[in-house]
Amino acid sequence: MHFLYVRRPLWLGAAFLCLLPAVLTKCSIADKPIGQHGCFGPMTTTQRVLDWDAVMGFALEGNPVPIQRVEKTEDEWRDLLLPEEFKVLRMKGTEPMFSGEYCHVHLPGIYACRACGYQLFDSSIKFDSGSGWPSFTQPVNKRAVSYHPDRSYGMERVEVRCSSCDSHLGHVFPDGPEPTGLRYCINSLAIKIQTTGQ
Ligand SMILES: [Zn+2]
Repeated sequence: MHFLYVRRPLWLGAAFLCLLPAVLTKCSIADKPIGQHGCFGPMTTTQRVLDWDAVMGFALEGNPVPIQRVEKTEDEWRDLLLPEEFKVLRMKGTEPMFSGEYCHVHLPGIYACRACGYQLFDSSIKFDSGSGWPSFTQPVNKRAVSYHPDRSYGMERVEVRCSSCDSHLGHVFPDGPEPTGLRYCINSLAIKIQTTGQ
């Protein structure tokens, strides 16, 4: 099966220089949270939690059992979320490129699902992809998000959802930097940063 990839980034040169330490560091797949530093700091503690083969395996053969579940009706989600959040999270919408509040934010913290609060991405592995959406190299662990084939709009992509509440987050592509080679292209409206001290 061939998956087509859109939003090809312009960051490869800069990302290579930024991530050279990680390229030189042998990483292993681990089912545990990643380290505390990433593209904008030392990467010696960053470990790869999964790779493209694992992503495709989950998308085509089924996702692992989630660590937690939050289940609500769509009417309950509609009451809890702002209309623009509901459109992205529950109706698989996409915010306009370069419009999201986290597109260029690099504050330390954890990005959680804006619907259920489940922690999804560590800020240390956020990077500037040039795509116009917040980009991450991996989730906090391999069960934090789930993967689903998405053939909408004439494209073949892998949709990423929060594993806790099934809210749509964005898509993942195999053209990211080390340590995973993945690019999680995530809507700002789908996540909320929890900075240190919150
Ligand atoms: Zn969620």
